[in-house]
Amino acid sequence: MAEIASLPVSGSFEQRRDRPLDGACRGAEGGVFARVAHEPATAARAREEAAKAVCGGCPVRIPCRRHALAARIPHGVRGGLTADERHVLLTAAPHLPA
Ligand code: SF4
Repeated sequence: MAEIASLPVSGSFEQRRDRPLDGACRGAEGGVFARVAHEPATAARAREEAAKAVCGGCPVRIPCRRHALAARIPHGVRGGLTADERHVLLTAAPHLPA
């Protein structure tokens, strides 16, 4: 986990709510990044994989991931990680800065 904490923050990272303004997901609020009420697990996994694919090509993926971990954002795919994946990382390394 120390590796994540030491990743450089580069580029613009202006936030709007909990996502960067210049992220590849900009404008995707109603798309694969939006949680759907009563969504079946298989559909949620497919949606999250689609969101992670968007993150994979995002120019601010690393600072977005750092922010999501540091801010303990409890929902959604951020920086290519699902909320569950971030929870696992934070459980393993609770010393990450808040
Ligand atoms: S890494 Fe993903 S969630 Fe973060 S700004 Fe980029 S596309 Fe959006």
